[in-house]
Amino acid sequence: MAFLTEDLVFGPIHSRRLGNSLGVNLLPKIGKICTFNCVYCECGWNPEKRDGHAKLPTPREYEQTLEDALKNLVGTPKEPDSITFSGNGEPTLHPDFPEIIDITVRLRDKYVPKAVISVLTNGTRIHDEKVFKALQKIDNNICKLDGGTLDIINKVNLPNVKIDLEQYIKDLQRFEGQVIIQTLFLRGEHNGVRFDNTTDKEINLWLEHLKKIKPRKTMIYVIDRETPEKNLEKLSTDEMAKIAEKVKSLGLNVEYYS
Ligand code: SF4
Repeated sequence: MAFLTEDLVFGPIHSRRLGNSLGVNLLPKIGKICTFNCVYCECGWNPEKRDGHAKLPTPREYEQTLEDALKNLVGTPKEPDSITFSGNGEPTLHPDFPEIIDITVRLRDKYVPKAVISVLTNGTRIHDEKVFKALQKIDNNICKLDGGTLDIINKVNLPNVKIDLEQYIKDLQRFEGQVIIQTLFLRGEHNGVRFDNTTDKEINLWLEHLKKIKPRKTMIYVIDRETPEKNLEKLSTDEMAKIAEKVKSLGLNVEYYS
């Protein structure tokens, strides 16, 4: 079953990567909206038809909901370590994303100043100056890079927008190290097309991209929940450790979750 959240602000839930994480879902409650359709997406496949009436939350609705949640959580064991944008699709697609980030920074500073703000993004909107500037204001700007070649990205992420990988790497360089790269390693098959983002060619090109981006951290991980494509292979801890070693040998910070 796909994991879709029904709430605008949800949790906190314990996250492998972010601790006590208060989730934010800027997308509709039913179905998912994303510029990717990853074979491993825990929200399931993109719906074939969009519900044209599905409303996105307004900044005011979001502000009220987040403020209520933070007031209830502050000073309790559930006080969040991170306010995390993830939810049912790509958060930066919300047309008021920059204003929503400003609201989040203000409420975080007021109620939970020690918490970080994290955005999990597939990166397809970072070329938009307003999105780029908003992401510069937060602590954990976590952008996806699931391979070394455009070919593997097209097979694993199934984008519904045109991806210019060279330009994407340049856009990531513009963060001047204030970016975290997230990469999910896997092998599998979808609609008769095989893919493997762990081949020597893919890993070597991916490492070349990391050298250029110089991310603050690279998070590599494996499938953790049910996936829409069933024909996927999860990597072993040993394989993940070897990939992590290669990142470390470049002098870059890496965390792996297996
Ligand atoms: S980018 Fe994220 S939300 Fe979009 S399809 Fe991939 S995993 Fe799902």
